[in-house]
Amino acid sequence: MTTRRIPRPPVCGGETAEGRTRWRNDLFGYWQICDARVCRRRRGCAGDAQACFSRYWWLTPEALKVEYRALVRAVCDGLSGQDALRAAKAEVERSAEHIARVDAEVTERIRREDAANAAS
Ligand SMILES: [Zn+2]
Repeated sequence: MTTRRIPRPPVCGGETAEGRTRWRNDLFGYWQICDARVCRRRRGCAGDAQACFSRYWWLTPEALKVEYRALVRAVCDGLSGQDALRAAKAEVERSAEHIARVDAEVTERIRREDAANAAS
């Protein structure tokens, strides 16, 4: 019996969880709005990657998250870059209702927090 080596998709951001979080933070451009000066100065996530992720992930538009998750899934399933992108775009279209609901919830949360901050 021969063992066939199954190709793995590239691990973006390296082998550590922190590196992968930093890579994802950069993919979504969090450094551009990050409170940490070091991130803006280096034009990339350079502070506490997990803290940056926690601060900004929930604010990321749901369509981008759906597309990102579908793209990762498609690449892991072995699709080529173009096919993976097509699959991700199709997933975004299929998820229109979910995306609208989640974005409305986030907008409402922001409105409530702004109102609470204005009252204090
Ligand atoms: Zn940052």
